[in-house]
Amino acid sequence: MTNSIEFLNSVNQMFDKSAKLLSLRKDLATKIKLANSTYTVNFGVKLRNKFHTFTGFRCVHSEHNEPVKGGIRYSLGASQNEVEALAALMSYKCSLMDLPFGGSKGALIIDPNAWKQEELERITRRFTYELAKRDLIHPSQNVPGPDMGTDENVMAWIADEYRRLNPTEIDSLACVTGKPISKGGVHGRTEATGRGVYYAINELLSYPKDCKKIKLSPHIEDQKIIIQGFGNVGYYAAKFLSEDGAKIITIIEKDGSVVNETGIDIESLKKHFDKKRTFVGFDGFTTTRKRFLSKECDILIPAAVENVINKKNAKNIKAKLIVEAANGPVTSEANSILQKKGISVLPDFYANSGGVIVSYFEWVKNLSKMRYGLMQEREEEKRQSSLVSALELMTDKSFPNDLKDKVIKGSTEIDLVRSGLEEKMSEGYSNIHEKFHSNKKIKDFRTAGMVIAIKKIADAYSYLGI
Ligand code: NAD
Repeated sequence: MTNSIEFLNSVNQMFDKSAKLLSLRKDLATKIKLANSTYTVNFGVKLRNKFHTFTGFRCVHSEHNEPVKGGIRYSLGASQNEVEALAALMSYKCSLMDLPFGGSKGALIIDPNAWKQEELERITRRFTYELAKRDLIHPSQNVPGPDMGTDENVMAWIADEYRRLNPTEIDSLACVTGKPISKGGVHGRTEATGRGVYYAINELLSYPKDCKKIKLSPHIEDQKIIIQGFGNVGYYAAKFLSEDGAKIITIIEKDGSVVNETGIDIESLKKHFDKKRTFVGFDGFTTTRKRFLSKECDILIPAAVENVINKKNAKNIKAKLIVEAANGPVTSEANSILQKKGISVLPDFYANSGGVIVSYFEWVKNLSKMRYGLMQEREEEKRQSSLVSALELMTDKSFPNDLKDKVIKGSTEIDLVRSGLEEKMSEGYSNIHEKFHSNKKIKDFRTAGMVIAIKKIADAYSYLGI
């Protein structure tokens, strides 16, 4: 179990540091920092011939924008402090990335693997009922999404239960994101967080000034990468990075690691892991875990849980860059140690924002009741076709066949979602880069991002007069 008070303190200490730099009024800083409310529920579900009592939470951190947004986590280590830390990170993430949401987060204390699918469905439906009757699930007030231990199945049950409770609500599908496509989801949501991590790294590599400072080669093929966690985020980050030429030299999981200095075959490992739920038996398996966080590499990507890089191990880290794919993997004390050692960190509320960005696209799709690309796909194809024909006519040559299809094809939903995500990640990095290099008092990317995020929330509260 992670130390949740340490996690909450870390998030708050990082906030205090940035609020000070902004010379934010104390009363306003306190208003922003503290969670608005946290609801705790103990509900019973009769399963296996007895009542089981489950404890769940939904924290609303900041309502400067509504709806508030944030995933629901299923984990035995969940607690009020953890949910409040995660909800605060959601507020800063949505603000930094210019998404029209406040911050929220939910959790249920449960080991999802200890229950059958139909049991998990009943538990989820009951939890949904408890939250929805207090408007803690609502298309215009509070929109959950997936997080650790939950997936598109869980999101589909939540959407269905909400619809059952509100049969006349026309926007009911927008009450939750991360749903399967057939239940109102958007193409590209499942891969979004990992893909966002990949875009974040590519963005950084495209800035020579930052590569020089971090002593990183600007080429993706030169990067040796270690990833902790091979769940949704870790797998997709590994997949896109390795497909683009980076070498994933170690992946650390709960019960051991896989090592291959020439680059792990990600798809084979995924097949093995899906089937066996363990790395045991895969080529390069070793029971060593924690020690690999301090193994030499270019980029270390913690993509599992919070507090894994802390004051005990930070001094041993040898990566040049840490990219926080998980929420809160580096404690604030570790952050200071890393800074002194000259190790840069791309903070969670930027690096893993791909999930909420594509959730935003899904929410808009649900409200508009129309898939992305429907109105322009054919029109684009006709125009591009005419252009190709005109070129062929003018040059008296035929257009290369392999390029023709690519040029003519109109943009589908997945093309548009990926393009929107890349644009957002690029915008976010550019803002952090600019802030970081324009103020000598700002010593790291995290503070740069926090300063931007807090300023926007403070402005919103000032205009609201709260
Ligand atoms: P997941 O449940 O799909 O995967 C987590 C993986 O980490 C599992 O395979 C688990 O076995 C492994 N793990 C857990 N503890 C570990 C440890 N101590 N060492 C090594 N491996 C460990 O969860 P996920 O959705 O991939 O989320 C991972 C992190 O990313 C969380 O911090 C989550 O809050 C954050 N995040 C997720 C999303 C999303 O869209 N899913 C979005 C933003 C942030």
